[in-house]
Parts: sequence; C-alpha cells; structure tokens
Amino acid sequence: MSAMIPVAEAVERMLERVTRVVQTEIVPLAQGLGRICAKPIQSPIDVPGHDNSAMDGYAVRAGSTQVGDQPVIVGTSAAGHPYCGAVAAGQCVRIMTGATVPTGTDAIIIQENVSVSDDGGSITINEPVRVGDNIRLRGADVSQGATVIGQGERLNPVDIGLLASLGIAEVEVQRTLKVAVFSTGDELVSPGQPLQSGQIYDSNRYLIGAMLQRLNIEVMDLGRLPDNLEAIKGALTDASTQADAIITSGGVSVGDADYTKQALEALGEVGFWKVAMKPGKPFAFGRLNQAWFFGLPGNPVAAAVTMDQLVQPVLAKLAGEQQQATLQLSATSAEALKKRPGRADFQRICYWQDEHGELKLKSAGSQSSGVLSTLKLANGFAAIEQERGKVEPGESVTVLPFSKLLR
Ligand code: AMP
Ligand code: MG
Repeated sequence: MSAMIPVAEAVERMLERVTRVVQTEIVPLAQGLGRICAKPIQSPIDVPGHDNSAMDGYAVRAGSTQVGDQPVIVGTSAAGHPYCGAVAAGQCVRIMTGATVPTGTDAIIIQENVSVSDDGGSITINEPVRVGDNIRLRGADVSQGATVIGQGERLNPVDIGLLASLGIAEVEVQRTLKVAVFSTGDELVSPGQPLQSGQIYDSNRYLIGAMLQRLNIEVMDLGRLPDNLEAIKGALTDASTQADAIITSGGVSVGDADYTKQALEALGEVGFWKVAMKPGKPFAFGRLNQAWFFGLPGNPVAAAVTMDQLVQPVLAKLAGEQQQATLQLSATSAEALKKRPGRADFQRICYWQDEHGELKLKSAGSQSSGVLSTLKLANGFAAIEQERGKVEPGESVTVLPFSKLLR
C-alpha cells in the first residue's frame, strides 16, 4: 500500500485514464429520457415559425394608423388558420392569440383598445399603436441552427419537450454502460435467506446496484465471489469480457484474507490505494481486460461514499456525460462535530434552513462506517477538509446535498 492520496487526486488520476465509450445509438425521442446526448443538437426550424400574435385583437399597419382611424376588417387570422391575403392601408384583420400575422401588417392592437362598428365591418382605433406591438417574432424562442442540447447532456423531461417542439423524433445517444457488481465475504447472505450465526445480509450489492440504476446503467448482478482463488479469477475474467466496469465491495482492507487482491494482481493492472477520506480509506482502481475495476471498501457507508464521491465521476466520463459541478453549500454547524486532521470526512448530516433563513446542520447520528441507518436519516454530507480538526458549534462547514445516487 502506498501513502494516502487526497480525494481530489484520486478522482483526477482515474479521470485521466478513462475515455468515453465510442458507441452510440439512435432512439425514439420518447425513449430518450435519462440518456446522454451523443452529439450537439441544432434546431432544424425557427420557433415560432411565423411572426404571430401575442393577444386577441386586430392586425394593422401601425405606420399609417392614427387614433380615430376606422380601418375595414378584411378577414380573420386564427391559430392554425392564417389569413392569406395582403393587407393594405386602411384595412385590418381580426386576429387571435398564436395566429400568423398577415402580410402587410406590423402590429396588433388589442381588442380592448378598439370599438367595433355596429355592422361589424370596421373598427375605430381608440389608442396609439406602434410597430411591433404584441407580435412574437419568428425565431425569437429558438432560431434555426441554434444549438439547443450540448454533447454529453443527460436528457431531462424539459429537453424531451424542447426537442419535440422542434419536430425532432429521434436522438443519438451514448450506448448504455454495463457494470458488473460482486460482493466478497463468507459472512454474507442474500436477503430472503435465513441468517445463521455470524452471518449478515449482503446489502452492498443492492445498494451499489440501485446507485448504478440512478445513472441509467445496466447492472449485472454477479452475486458473491467465492472464497477460492481460481474461482475468483474465473468469475472476474468472465465479467471483464462482458462489462464496461466491475465493482466489488469488501476485501480491500490491509490484512484481509484476501483472494480478491491476489486474483486481481494476477489478472490485470490494479492499484490498491489508501484515499485520505473517511469513511472509505481502502480503495482499488485498475483495469481487467477491457473492463475498468473499482474495489470498494466493505462497510456499507464506506461503499456508498466511495461510489458517490470516487466512482460516480469516473462512470459519468466513461458514459460520455459532461462533468457537472456539484452544488456546495455553506452551513453553520448547530453542534460540535468530531473530526481528526489527516483525512477528508464525509459526515452524515441533516441540513435545514432556520427561521431566519440561515442554513444549519447537525450530525445525523453515528458516523460509524457500518451504520447504514444514519445514512438514511441524513440529507447530505458535511465535507470537512482533510487537515481540519474538530468543528465547534457556530463554525461554518461545507455541505454537499445528497446527489441523485443517494436520494
Ligand atoms: P471487508 O473489507 O471485507 O473486511 O469488510 C468490512 C466490513 O464490511 C465487514 O464488517 C463486512 O462484514 C462488511 N461487509 C463486507 N461486504 C459487505 C456487503 N456486501 N454487505 C454488507 N456488509 C458487508
Ligand atoms: Mg470481507
């Protein structure tokens, strides 16, 4: 084991190695939600496609219209039913919201500002009208050729709606990543089975699998690695030919009766790191055949934190997703938080806004890396800097609201 490396350096080192998968696929727009856009998308059309009316009223030629004029109504323009003739001076067209502005007119006078003659054939202009009044110009929302979605953006419901508004029926997206997940440890039993003495339920495989689903990743659940060197080698080799990445949990601590480590060292290029973070110190990263390998610590909260802080950005890059700056808030600690210099802490906390609008935080309870129930109670991490010591009440602390992997 080498010396401890800071969290940011661990992430940097991994990001340097990984490049996005090259394969893309074309999917119908309705199936694009959550997928990563593979190429910038330009609008094929102007939106709106025509100058159109923002109000119900009358389309007129503003330049030659004065208060007191009485233009003749020559037709109607309704949404979807434009007036196709040309409009001359002294004429106007009845127009509805969203309808195309007729050729020859350049302003809409709202119906409240005119009086209609008894026979309905003309109007009297009661208020001044200027060129452009109440007209939504062609292309004012989106102009043809403008980039509306960038490469690497994960499509959200608004993106899907926007693309539909441009008439785009299909999108080219990055192919879905496939990630294999293994647990390690003789003590583990799958949920649904009875527990014998000394056994515990395997929670990591479910936790990690669920976190991967939040990233739209296809999960290959490969169960528990057997306690046998040849069998582990076989299982990892198999997985490495089918998956983009392999994630294991457990068996990376120093002094662990550790077949996983031996198998990995025999099969590929894997570095065992001590990352200066708490929880989560032992961590492995490397490559087995064409698959990336992440070895997470066994304690469930350590597995969750390393997935969130170390693995997530790397999988995002592999998937072709643009790097997102994560939201960091500054909050006042309502209580003392235990902390020793030397490692960056990701403490489970609850943050809230007090009655004065100030952001406050308190511990969610036990910070032991095996205690999953306090991760459930928390809504974020207090990211306490590596060299900082104990936090006193009233001190300012950085809060990382839980990412979608933990919510
Ligand atoms: P290890 O790194 O294998 O020594 O594991 C550290 C701690 O995490 C031990 O208490 C293990 O029992 C526990 N652990 C390891 N893997 C899992 C898992 N898949 N689910 C729940 N706990 C686990
Ligand atoms: Mg173990």
